[in-house]
Amino acid sequence: MATREVEDIFASIVERAKTLDPVNTRKWFEKLIPLRLSGGSLEIGCPDEATAAFLRDNCKGGFTRAAQQITGHLVTVDFNVDTYKKTRRRQRRTEGDLKLHPDYTFENFVVGPSNRLAQASCVAVSQSPGTTYNPLFIYGNSGLGKTHLLHAICFAAKQKSNRAVIQLLSCEGFVNRFIRAIKEGNSASFQKQFRTVDMLVIDDVQFLREREQSQEEFFHTFNTLYNNGKQIILSADSPPGRIPSLGKRLISRFNWGLVASIDPPSYETRVAIVQKKAHLRGLGISDGIAEYIARKVHANIRELEGALTTIYAVAMTTSEQITLELAQTALEGQIGAVAKQINITDIIEVVTDHFDVRLADMQSKKRNRSIAMPRQICMYLARNLTKHSLGEIGGHLGGRDHTTVMHACNKIRQACHSEPQMHALLDHLAKQITQNPSA
Ligand code: ADP
Ligand code: MG
Repeated sequence: MATREVEDIFASIVERAKTLDPVNTRKWFEKLIPLRLSGGSLEIGCPDEATAAFLRDNCKGGFTRAAQQITGHLVTVDFNVDTYKKTRRRQRRTEGDLKLHPDYTFENFVVGPSNRLAQASCVAVSQSPGTTYNPLFIYGNSGLGKTHLLHAICFAAKQKSNRAVIQLLSCEGFVNRFIRAIKEGNSASFQKQFRTVDMLVIDDVQFLREREQSQEEFFHTFNTLYNNGKQIILSADSPPGRIPSLGKRLISRFNWGLVASIDPPSYETRVAIVQKKAHLRGLGISDGIAEYIARKVHANIRELEGALTTIYAVAMTTSEQITLELAQTALEGQIGAVAKQINITDIIEVVTDHFDVRLADMQSKKRNRSIAMPRQICMYLARNLTKHSLGEIGGHLGGRDHTTVMHACNKIRQACHSEPQMHALLDHLAKQITQNPSA
């Protein structure tokens, strides 16, 4: 089994164990790692012997049941300290804290005249890091796909060589870690962490402006990596020479490789992006609607997505079919407004408030109707108003698995069709959520 797959299964097992045995659940469960999962046995790595002993005495039953429920097989569970440190170190080195957005891949990136050079250079760099364009500097206005491309590079580079050590972080992340390292007297380990990678990817480097000491540190990091033939990739909102207060030495280095811009997308590219995003969410929309949205929103792809979300939210509470008319009504007065992102906590908050139930009960095993129904409604709304997967939604609601969430969505959808009251209720809740998102 692939490492990633084992880790995903293990994460579900831990979540399940927590719900099966809340009394023994501890915050440090997060530190546990899977050492081995094969032949009906799961070996769990613990940081020290005391932890292992506690788990053996108190939690073996819970973990065993959880493992059996998640994998569908009989599984024996054991807790072990031996290889924990070694495995952790290897994990940290190969994975770092590389958190990639699952949608931000080259496959999901629509190429057009506005971003062709940027996209092609990103692909080239991901295939032969350190040899084609070094550094690669991508710039463009907000919401045009810089972060998407940087994640895509990391994905592709990892696919090509899983052992490659990649650091991807926002410039703020770099600066904050640097400041913390100085405070804690850890400069040496900070330097080692960044100067020994195969690929360093820093998003939004304009944030380095007026940060002289961070610029100095970054300068040395840059030189070390560059001299060792390691790939450096940067993004910013303007070309190197136009970032205010960026030191001359850095400007000149950022210009050594390839500087590629991303411009606002053409109409045709916008249509293709709307279609791609709709497809990613499993939404069927006609060409007419995609064209309508693309005509309305020009400058920012994040807003293009926001428009799609708005239409979807309205469609969900009125009819199944998204018609052009509905899209027009939904977007009236909305275009130009900052795209609103709804997150699952907004939904949970509105629903728990409306039904006056406690979050803890929603996440518990309780199955009486007064709790099960709000829980199912949460699942249904989260499925339709956010990008979360079934598994993620279940995770927020007490570690339930994706089949439970799917079942809940179907049930509420049917009720929405057959019961006018349910229809009105969902309409009311969705309005509250979409009018009141936290971000
Ligand atoms: P930036 O970092 O430049 O501000 P992002 O990379 O965050 O922009 O992009 C904003 C949104 O637009 C993301 O959801 C991204 O997937 C989407 N996006 C941008 N460009 C494209 C494209 N060419 N194809 C598909 N999606 C895109
Ligand atoms: Mg960005």
